[in-house]
Amino acid sequence: MKEIRIDYSKCSGCRLCIEHCPVKVFEDRGDGRPKPERISACIACIGCMAVCEQGAIELVSDWECSG
Ligand code: SF4
Ligand code: SF4
Repeated sequence: MKEIRIDYSKCSGCRLCIEHCPVKVFEDRGDGRPKPERISACIACIGCMAVCEQGAIELVSDWECSG
């Protein structure tokens, strides 16, 4: 995983992604919104994206499809 982008204009601060992540990548910024703190631990399970009802999370992968 290269980067986790949070669109804070969409994020409602529901904390679902913070609680869902199996490897605790996110810290709470203090307002329920996630701060990707340990991206190197991310196993790219897509869980945080899946639980986010606001579509506020985008995972940017290391690899790119050439096809
Ligand atoms: S993709 Fe999975 S491991 Fe990575 S931050 Fe999201 S929930 Fe955590
Ligand atoms: S699940 Fe989505 S809306 Fe909820 S705190 Fe995470 S990024 Fe924000």
